[in-house]
Amino acid sequence: MKILVLNAGSSSQKSCLYQLPSDLLPATPLHPLWEANLDLTVSRDNAKLTVKTQKITKEIRLSSQDTQAATAQMLETLVSGDTKVLEQLSDLDVVGHRVVHGGTEYSQATKITPNVKETISRLIPLAPNHNPAHLQGIEAVENLLGDVTQIAVFDTAFHSQMPLEAVIYPIPYHWYEQGIRRYGFHGISHQYCAHQAAQIINQPLASLKLITCHLGNGCSLAAIKNGVSINTTMGFTPLEGLMMGTRSGSIDPAILIYLLREHNFSADDLDQMLNKESGIKGISGLSSDLRIIRDAIAEGNQRAQLALDLFIHRLITNLGAMIASLGGLDVLVFTAGIGENAAIVRERVASQFEFLGLKLDLAKNNSSPQDENIAASDSKIQVLVIHTNEDWAIACKCWRLIH
Ligand code: ADP
Repeated sequence: MKILVLNAGSSSQKSCLYQLPSDLLPATPLHPLWEANLDLTVSRDNAKLTVKTQKITKEIRLSSQDTQAATAQMLETLVSGDTKVLEQLSDLDVVGHRVVHGGTEYSQATKITPNVKETISRLIPLAPNHNPAHLQGIEAVENLLGDVTQIAVFDTAFHSQMPLEAVIYPIPYHWYEQGIRRYGFHGISHQYCAHQAAQIINQPLASLKLITCHLGNGCSLAAIKNGVSINTTMGFTPLEGLMMGTRSGSIDPAILIYLLREHNFSADDLDQMLNKESGIKGISGLSSDLRIIRDAIAEGNQRAQLALDLFIHRLITNLGAMIASLGGLDVLVFTAGIGENAAIVRERVASQFEFLGLKLDLAKNNSSPQDENIAASDSKIQVLVIHTNEDWAIACKCWRLIH
């Protein structure tokens, strides 16, 4: 079975093609036959397409930023030239789309119908940077491939069973009825990592209390009990919760009122500041990238040090809240760019939770672990580093839905 996975964002579109056996889902992730990354940020009139197969990596300049045209050129590389891996596009069995916001409507992967498209469109005000790009991706495939089965896999779905007290904001209740509530995000990654973690430590997921720390450009935690997300740090939007690369995470909402009243901020000014100019970038004044912050710290840059300290402080305090929600902790999982690569973050977090009997094997922590348990042998809590693989998780959900 040939499954194309599309992950369309506002500035890039990542895709990959998996060939899955039709009788049994492999227990470990397969490598894609073909991967493509469409970068729409190169210039106003150009886009850059990078295509990778098991034999070749190729860069192609596209003379248009039009999503439809760019997607067509990207799909053309599946069936022609030295990146060809399919005889014809009609050989594709399913196209799976990552969709950031599924609102309250979707608690699992869903076949895309006109109704589903309408819902994704209706949810645009809640995910203005993502849902329009997903719709464009879905429509581009529809126009190019006709009636191929398309499936939406939602980042909100995994959190759809959170208890009401974790869902509702303490503001007048009618706002909850109008959709102002906590949804949570990064669900595909949190769920995938929870399943991988249970496999690695060879225990049933249903018996475990886990916290997954997805620390990339966007950062969030999920508290997972019996395989279900019962609390998470992102809320109505992906801005709530932890400090992130360029996002502030949670701050006193009265700051916004103050800026609106006293500094003539507009809604757009607030949006720009909180989403693009805050977080690690805003505090360090240097970059949102932790690698650059680490290098600057080594050169004695104090604002870089402060950015890291703040990041860790907010991570630890939010972890404390998640542990309390779970009423204990068996497994702590680190994933995504920072979680997988920044040993210093894992070490500092772990040292703060020593009082719970959590102990790292420092040698393992420092040896670029991947899909590995890095807890010391006498630790009461297992600590895992897991490479998140959202594309594979989406392909598996598509496979299950059509079986
Ligand atoms: P996204 O959320 O966009 O998918 P990633 O999961 O790829 O992002 O994470 C990107 C971030 O991971 C970078 O901005 C950087 O801060 C961090 N990162 C990546 N590699 C390293 C590394 N070797 N050491 C520390 N941080 C890293």
